[in-house]
Amino acid sequence: MKLYNTLSRKKEQFVPLSPNLATLYTCGPTVYNYAHIGNMRAYVFMDLLRKSLRFNGFKLNSVMNITDVGHLLSDSDDGEDKIAIAAKAQKKTPLEIANYYTGIFFDDCKRLNIETPEHIAKATDYIQEMIDYVVDLVNKGYGYEIDDGIYFDISKFEGYGKLSRIKLDEQQAGSRVDVNSQKRNPYDFALWKKAEPNHIMQWDSPWGKGYPGWHIECSAMSRKILGSMLDIHTGGVDHIPIHHENEIAQSEAKEGKKTVNYWLHGAFMLVDGGKMSKSLGNTYTVSNLIERSYSPLAFRYFCLNAHYRKELNFTFEGLSASQTALDRLYDTVLKHKESKMKTEKSVLAKYKSEFENAIKDDLNIPMALGVLWTMLKEPTSVDIYKLAVSFDNILGLSLSEVEKFAKEKMQIASNTEIPQEILNLANERLLARNSKNWAESDRLRDKIAELGYTIKDTKDSYEIISK
Ligand code: AMP
Ligand code: ZN
Repeated sequence: MKLYNTLSRKKEQFVPLSPNLATLYTCGPTVYNYAHIGNMRAYVFMDLLRKSLRFNGFKLNSVMNITDVGHLLSDSDDGEDKIAIAAKAQKKTPLEIANYYTGIFFDDCKRLNIETPEHIAKATDYIQEMIDYVVDLVNKGYGYEIDDGIYFDISKFEGYGKLSRIKLDEQQAGSRVDVNSQKRNPYDFALWKKAEPNHIMQWDSPWGKGYPGWHIECSAMSRKILGSMLDIHTGGVDHIPIHHENEIAQSEAKEGKKTVNYWLHGAFMLVDGGKMSKSLGNTYTVSNLIERSYSPLAFRYFCLNAHYRKELNFTFEGLSASQTALDRLYDTVLKHKESKMKTEKSVLAKYKSEFENAIKDDLNIPMALGVLWTMLKEPTSVDIYKLAVSFDNILGLSLSEVEKFAKEKMQIASNTEIPQEILNLANERLLARNSKNWAESDRLRDKIAELGYTIKDTKDSYEIISK
């Protein structure tokens, strides 16, 4: 299996440290707000990677962290803690904020068929490990104390900049990071910050009360859970120049050796061709998509259409096309499932190998999806169905539950005497009900009633009765 390593800027053969076992670390969400669909794309990527590795015979030992402290307003060391800002604004404790948004995040993961990794590590559960890590770096001469915290001296670490390939001397001091006059070098970053008395989250440390820097969290947690070396570290491309560069510096300084063999980064999702931002009102969440009657798996399907290293432009037209394609996929897969016919072994083997080759080529999921569609055009056969379900171990589109999805649609289609407008509203309402969006479901029921129809719920679907 080949994976594109950001460190070498090349596709490399994946050779794990232990045969048949892949160890992974993924930078998880900062739980101060609802995760938006761009964030969720990053975790769909993590999921596709994990499932592809498993498909290729590797056992998984994988960690995702939950950042519930230390991620400041800027990715370098400025501004307030994002969780603390949310806690103040919502008059909640940081723990309440973190627990609330963590819960919603995992609900969204479930809706998108993103499997929970073997270990979920909350930063606040590993403060002692972080302190020990910083003490070690100070003892080894890499960390130094100034008025507001303990900093990493990048001039002591020869390889600084190797991931993002920045040339430090060509960068204007302060162009990326604020120049703190006490820092030895502008790119030095905080390992530990000293807390002002009114800072909400603080812990005792050898340097008085304080809190960890964001970067040290990932180094300390991955070391604690996976050991001093791991196979694959993932994150978004935004992590390359600061967060992961700093993680490499800390970890390699501490261990005196390489600590991660493969660095994989997912490209960003844009919305309507631009950046997602609160001010533009385009930071959609999975719940926002459901409110608009899209199924969460249509969003997953949308993500599968682009290679993980390509930017993906989100539009509602694009999502509608994915919804239509997914519905068609369910119908087609169901026809194969209900077939009594068989397919020749050699034909099945051809599709299987094409699918595997696409996956092995740095997770070429769009190509793998293309193989699935071509295969489904074969005469209907239960063998094709079975192979499609095995492909779905990676794609994660719930193809083994296809009856459930297709039945909902058939119910709608059988109501032929009912006008299309009512059928559309009823379909939207069913999607709202399935995602437990009761307010939207009630609103649509009222709208249908206003137009002269009554909707009666059945176990898996509904009936429409004209008044
Ligand atoms: P955060 O919660 O801000 O730490 O981000 C969580 C994850 O989402 C990180 O892996 C980011 O790289 C990723 N991310 C943030 N914005 C986007 C976006 N627009 N598209 C794709 N991934 C994103
Ligand atoms: Zn991280």
